[in-house]
Amino acid sequence: MPEHSTQPEPARLQHFIGGQATPPASGTYFASTNPATGELLYGAARGDATDIDAAMAAARAAFDDPRWRDLSQTRRGHLLRRLGDLIADNAEDLARSESRDNGKLLREMRGQLTSLPEYYYYYAGLADKIQGDVIPTSDRTVLNYTCREPLGVVGAITPWNSPLTLTTSKIAPALAVGNTVVIKPSEYTSATILRLAELVVEAGFPPGAVNVVTGFGAEAGQALVDHPGLAKISFTGSTATGSRIAAAAASRFIGSTLELGGKSPNIVFGDANVANAAMGVVAGIFAAAGQTCIAGSRVFAHRSVYDELLERVTERARSIRIGDPLDDATELGPLAFEAQRDKVASYVDLGRSEGARVLTGGSPSDGGLGGYYYEPTVLVDVHNEMRVVREEIFGPVAAIMPFDSEDEVVRLANDTEYGLAAGVWTTDLSRAHRMASRLEAGTIWVNTYRAMSPMSPRQGFKSSGVGVEHGTETIKEYTRLKSVWINTSEEPVADPFVMRS
Ligand code: NAD
Repeated sequence: MPEHSTQPEPARLQHFIGGQATPPASGTYFASTNPATGELLYGAARGDATDIDAAMAAARAAFDDPRWRDLSQTRRGHLLRRLGDLIADNAEDLARSESRDNGKLLREMRGQLTSLPEYYYYYAGLADKIQGDVIPTSDRTVLNYTCREPLGVVGAITPWNSPLTLTTSKIAPALAVGNTVVIKPSEYTSATILRLAELVVEAGFPPGAVNVVTGFGAEAGQALVDHPGLAKISFTGSTATGSRIAAAAASRFIGSTLELGGKSPNIVFGDANVANAAMGVVAGIFAAAGQTCIAGSRVFAHRSVYDELLERVTERARSIRIGDPLDDATELGPLAFEAQRDKVASYVDLGRSEGARVLTGGSPSDGGLGGYYYEPTVLVDVHNEMRVVREEIFGPVAAIMPFDSEDEVVRLANDTEYGLAAGVWTTDLSRAHRMASRLEAGTIWVNTYRAMSPMSPRQGFKSSGVGVEHGTETIKEYTRLKSVWINTSEEPVADPFVMRS
């Protein structure tokens, strides 16, 4: 924080460890700004290995505490349900706080806060349905059964673009099966995750069930990943960081769930309802200022509708209202921080130098508020070899390309290191199924885009991730399977040198 600021001293946010606001061991804080205005919001505790040690110890103590360890599955479900209720009660404050932190539209945040409790209710409902099997091995005198056990202390590292939702995707299933958690939120968005941790305690979870250490990736994040007490790491963020985290986890034989980057194709066929498809393209790349992992940043339009789609998308892009994310009339807020805005600008400049033509947008803006905005941008005359088409920009920049045949667009769409999501716009039912099967992505949307539910599993293919979030499959990510053999026979052991079955 500035030492000689003339501003009033901003709030200082502490870590949340063992149910208590806890100052950083180093005594240092870092500044967090509002990207819509550039104004200082608060100072957050700058976490390091000492703080991570304290959080890990609190989480381990909570994990071993019989009040948590022996709590019935039904009671764990009750606690999650209460947490969902508390989030619903605090929805407006949480929505505003996150909107100030990362610039997301308040109305989008209100929408997210409406569905967020449902994630907790979903895992509350699953908590008492986690059970093993009895295995009918060939020896009838042996009872062999399996059970799913919690792992221990789970680390959760999350990005800035949807902190509450992405953290919930990890802590709700982790807690449902009896783990405890240490969260390292993004250094750009500490506030709502600290508040969430307070609500966890208010809901009745034991102190230490969820701990938060704020700070930077290379300090607090790395210390969490390297901590010998960690049983698993669940990470959402860039592919580059995910790759390092996966390697560290693998070297210690702990599991990792990785939700990483994307460069998703949004494909419009000649038989599509072009008006709807254009809205889907706009939603895919300009909602949340393009700062979503699932952004439909590569748009492929069949040559027969290419001009019409381009016209509709460009016209809508030109009319998008840039402004204060807290204002209900605003359609495009800022990028989450200055360096992200500069990254988007440099990608568009790179596209120009590669030969792309900017149909609309293409400039940074301060949104009239002194913030870090970038105009909604449409690039044409682009192809799959350009870096603007291959690399994740994470901003409001669409690259729109024509195609002639289904085979061609399947090849182009799959020609990417990523495989997070894909959109298909068609009225041909057979084509919809063919495309769903042929596209290499973990989520396929047909005649819709950006749909999500706690019930529906999602998984990144290729460099977009490893492991599943949401749905019943996630339970496996946060448990380990034990197989128990009980000999019920009273016969003497016949031959100790022969394997039994
Ligand atoms: P990032 O990888 O820079 O940071 C993510 C988190 O990792 C932050 O908390 C950061 O502090 C931490 N971190 C950074 N270096 C670390 C290290 N060495 N050790 C441990 N932790 C470290 O990503 P970002 O810029 O915050 O987020 C944007 C990225 O997230 C984009 O690539 C986007 O596609 C991806 N994302 C993916 C999903 C998904 O579900 N697949 C969802 C949202 C965002």
